[in-house]
Amino acid sequence: MTLEPQGVVVVVGGINQDVVVRAERRPGAGETVVGDGPAVVPGGKGANTAVAAARAGASVVMCGAVGDDDAGRAQVVALAAEHVDTRGVRERVGTATGVAMIVVTPDGENSIAVGRGANATVTGPDVRRACAGAAVVLAQTEVGAEPADWAAAACAGRFVLSLAPVLPLRAETLALADPVVLNETEAAEVVGRAADDPAAAVLAATGARAVVVTLGARGAAWADGASSGRVAGHLVAADDVVDTTGAGDCFTGTLAARLAAGDSLELAVTVAVAAAAESVRRPGARRPGLSDGGQSGTP
Ligand code: ATP
Repeated sequence: MTLEPQGVVVVVGGINQDVVVRAERRPGAGETVVGDGPAVVPGGKGANTAVAAARAGASVVMCGAVGDDDAGRAQVVALAAEHVDTRGVRERVGTATGVAMIVVTPDGENSIAVGRGANATVTGPDVRRACAGAAVVLAQTEVGAEPADWAAAACAGRFVLSLAPVLPLRAETLALADPVVLNETEAAEVVGRAADDPAAAVLAATGARAVVVTLGARGAAWADGASSGRVAGHLVAADDVVDTTGAGDCFTGTLAARLAAGDSLELAVTVAVAAAAESVRRPGARRPGLSDGGQSGTP
């Protein structure tokens, strides 16, 4: 990993309080499953991504919204503790902070339901103010489609789009994505079917400048107009996979930090695969990646 100074990464995305229950299995329709916990921890795909980017060495500004409640104030404190600049986080009076209800099963897999709360209140002026001067703007669709469109329009640097969840975005937004980052399920949703080469298929379907598709334990595939490739996943023994929650956020934040430092897409993907593999060995959505020597604010 190189050590040159990095430009500012602005993350536009969701900030949630995660309520995590560990259970033997996921509840089915109409069913209650009793498990261990809850662990109440900082979360939100945008905030997790911002923390991962900061841990990977970037100067990070978070743009999003929380409610005027204890949960919201706790999210701001948690971000600041990770050296994420929170000046772009708005506190909305009379609104609840977003909540993610997460069930983690013994195989490390998770099921998540999100109540968006204040995340739904991010405005165009919020986004435009935060994005000014950023080397990399990373928009994450948990706060809706419009903020991603606003971020793309406001971005004068490199625009990275985390399409989780898949939402209908303006064609101009997709065309600016360099890259759009998504997992296999999301890639199949965009393309309309599972593809042998999902990165190339998403590139063709979206018109993005570049695409990165994460493949879970198998690593990630990337493609831009000129070339494409795969980075193999790092082998993590099944017994060592504790919790995959937020592996994608760790991947995307690390990727954005490395792109801000000037890495090629292939090198950035390589570093991100390694950081995300390390992250699945530990519980919680914000566990240590490669850069912080095992310190964590997670349960
Ligand atoms: P999540 O929604 O759980 O955060 P995701 O579905 O967005 O994750 P994945 O494709 O599952 O994203 O994983 C992202 C990255 O994390 C992968 O590209 C890989 O580098 C790493 N990873 C995930 N699971 C494993 C695993 N079991 N072993 C090694 N690496 C893994």
